[in-house]
Amino acid sequence: MNESCLFCRIVKGEIPADIVARTDDAIAFRDISPKAPTHILVIPKEHVASLDEVGDHMDLGFLVRLAREVAKQEGIGGSGYRVVINTGEDGGQTVNHLHLHVLGGRRMTWPPG
Ligand code: 5GP
Ligand code: ZN
Repeated sequence: MNESCLFCRIVKGEIPADIVARTDDAIAFRDISPKAPTHILVIPKEHVASLDEVGDHMDLGFLVRLAREVAKQEGIGGSGYRVVINTGEDGGQTVNHLHLHVLGGRRMTWPPG
């Protein structure tokens, strides 16, 4: 828990969020500023600042699996979706708590901007 971290405060319930799924280690909630009809953030409950901070001991499979489950739950498992981890300044990361974006419900473009 990092007291000054927005997503840690969502995990703790101090800041409200539209939580769509929970596991022992992770939560998934709707992005406050959706960039697609479905836009969910999947985060570890434990504070990890970014992909760069993921240690050798930490397997991200539990987050990827929850992203896939949430996509199914949201009805975009069949039509397709995109999972994104913005990392660092050039990667466009604005919240320093590791998160996977799950985006879908429309055709994604490539390359991303
Ligand atoms: P990043 O830009 O770091 O990859 O993604 C951070 C995401 O968090 C953005 O898509 C932004 O809209 C979302 N976000 C920022 N503040 C809040 C908040 O208070 N609640 C929720 N649900 N999402 C937020
Ligand atoms: Zn945090």
